Order: sequence, then structure tokens, then C-alpha cells
Amino acid sequence: MSLSGRASLISPSPTLAITAKAKAMKAQGIDIIGFGAGEPDFDTPEHIKEEARKALQEGFTKYTPVSGIEPLKKAICKKLKKDNGLNYDPAQIIVSCGAKHSLYNAIQIICEEGDEVILPSPYWVSYPEQIKLSGARPVIVETREAEGFKLGPEKFLKEITSQTKLLILNSPNNPTGAVYSRDELLALAEIAMEKKIYVISDEIYEKITYDKVKHISIASLSPRMQDLTVVVNGVSKAYSMTGWRIGYAAGNKEIIAAMSRLQSHSTSNPDSIAQRAAGEAIEGTQEPLKEMVAEFEKRRDYLGERLNNLKGFSCQQPQGAFYAFPNISGVLGKFFRGRKIEDSSSLTGLLLDEARVAVIPGSAFGQDNYLRFSYATSMENISKGLDRIEDVVNKIN
Ligand SMILES: *Cc1c(COP(=O)(O)O)cnc(C)c1O
Repeated sequence: MSLSGRASLISPSPTLAITAKAKAMKAQGIDIIGFGAGEPDFDTPEHIKEEARKALQEGFTKYTPVSGIEPLKKAICKKLKKDNGLNYDPAQIIVSCGAKHSLYNAIQIICEEGDEVILPSPYWVSYPEQIKLSGARPVIVETREAEGFKLGPEKFLKEITSQTKLLILNSPNNPTGAVYSRDELLALAEIAMEKKIYVISDEIYEKITYDKVKHISIASLSPRMQDLTVVVNGVSKAYSMTGWRIGYAAGNKEIIAAMSRLQSHSTSNPDSIAQRAAGEAIEGTQEPLKEMVAEFEKRRDYLGERLNNLKGFSCQQPQGAFYAFPNISGVLGKFFRGRKIEDSSSLTGLLLDEARVAVIPGSAFGQDNYLRFSYATSMENISKGLDRIEDVVNKIN
């Protein structure tokens, strides 16, 4: 077969391999506890579903404007003003088929062959692939656990060349749960403004933070920074709406217009009914969100404690999102019944076979000495899963 060079650039999703194996084991009747999920385990709140029913009943089932319906864009503008102190008008908003789609469009519009994109690791799995598909080169910069997994100004500055076009920031972070403070963002923003580097700020976990930590958008630091930033957000994570596929981007009018042109020739508008439901999610009661975050916080506390009690594991308390990212260097190089634990994926393989627990290897996110646990699963599952892991880990030597 003769496929495009572009096709060969795309790596298969590293998180899918382990989830596929877990699924196959489940299908054989093996009871697997999954910590792989990248989505909340709650149902979409009732008032949001009700709005979708209403839209359907009204026959709101036709093409909408490519970049989204006006009432939703207005609701997004209001939200950005209220939550983030950002002023945009609806022409600076595009609604896409999920935040992932907004990210894709933005990277396609900003980057091309010869450009470099600075991407702090650990990173979310789709960024490197989206960067490569634009023709640009991902410049992966490792952040360290001791620095809270955050990119500092020195490291940022060191990686900048005349080719650097874009920095991708994700706070709260998937997979580490790190949340950048205002001062940390300010230090990066000063450099981005001086060197004229665009920033894509993926704020999809904005609403999921703990310990009174508050999410800050880098775009809110100054009007000039706002102009250089494409803010990406959506309803998937905050409102348990992953399947509805609604995300959005806010930014400079010209960038948004170009993203809209690209979208007009690929997907056209995102689902009409889901747009109505997303408007209700953003404007309606935020009570279910608060309940969800309170539940996540309990699980985080419990999971963090259990992970820190595992021999050879250590885990910093995540400040946002719904993942824990424990350090496993204490078990690497050791053995379980003669089976050597070479790296994070051999550990996830071992845990799947011996503990019947599915977790994601850190290598999927660019750092091999870690595992990612999602706590978007019940307390009962977390407790049972950790009991099983403990049994296995106790036999590692
Ligand atoms: C889940 C996720 C997204 C994608 O969200 P969708 O709106 O469902 O496309 C984007 N960025 C990160 C870091 C995520 O974890």
C-alpha cells in the first residue's frame, strides 16, 4: 500500500494498547479494575440532558454556523469573563467537536514545516502527534517532579530558537495534576511576549482543582498575552460530557477565523443538539460539578495515601484533574517471580496479568519512571484495586 508520509508519522495511541488488552481480558470473564479512564465516571447532569431533549423535540437538528451557535458563543464569552477575567467577543470564539478538535485546528493554523513547538513533558498523548501532523517539530522539555512538574522560565528560555513558534501549556495537567500559579505563568508569559511565541493554553481541567488552588489562565495576565494565547476549554471533563464532543477555543480574531475556515472544510459545525446542551452546562447550575469535585477530592486523598504506602512507590499530591502520577523508580530493575520490571510498561503489564488492574505507563506521557492512575472510578474500585496491587508489589524483590 502506498499511504502518505503524514500517515506514517502518527503513532498509535499508547493508552489504547493497554486498555485494549484489559478489555480483551474482561471479555474472557476476568474481573479487571481499570484506572485508565480519561473521563469522569458520573452521568451527565439531568438539567443538561433535559436541554438536549428539548432541542431534539424542537427539531433543532440542522446545520448550524460552522463555528457554533451565537447563544453558546455568548455563554462562553460570559464564562471567560466571569471565571477568567478575559474579555472576548463572539467573533473570537470557535466551538469545535471537543477540545481535542480545537487543539488540532489551532495547531494546524499556527504551525508549519520548519517550526518548533515547545512541549513540556509529561504531556497529554495527542499533542506530539498533532504537532507532527502540522509539519512542525515537537521540542520536548522534561519537567521534574522536584519542580512540581512545571516548566520554569530558565528551561523555557533555553529551548527557544529562531524556529520556535508555539508553547503548549496544560494546567491543571494531565497526567500530573500540576497547576501553575500566577507567578509561574507570569514568568513564562514575559518570555513568550518578548520572543513573540504563541501559547496554546489547554484549560480543560480548569474546574477540577483541590485544596482551594485556583486555576489561572495565562491569557489573563495582560492584553498582549491574551492576543498571543489560544485558550482551549470545553465541557467534557467538568460536566461529564465526554461523548457529546463539544470544546471551544478563544483567541485573536484572525486565528479563530482561520480555524473556522479549516473546520468548515473538515467537520463543519459540531453537533447541534450537543451545542444546546453545552450552553446549559455552562450557564445552568454548577451544583453537580461541585459535588463531583468533592467526590474526586476524597478519592485523591485516599489513593494518594495508598500509593505512598506501596513499597518502592512515592506520589505527590495532585492539585487538579483526576489523575495521580506516582514515581515507581523504587521498583524498576527489580523482579516479580523472575519477571524483570524493566520500565513502566513492563510494570503495567505485570499489574494487568498478576493484579488484574489496568493503569497507564508513564512512558505514554514521555516519562518512564511513573504510572498514571485515573481516580475517575469508585472508592470501592480504588480500594479493591490497591489491595491487589499491594499484594503484587509486596512480592517484588
Ligand atoms: C480529555 C482531554 C482533552 C480533550 O477533551 P475533549 O473535549 O473531550 O476533546 C484535551 N486535553 C486534555 C489534557 C485532556 O485530558
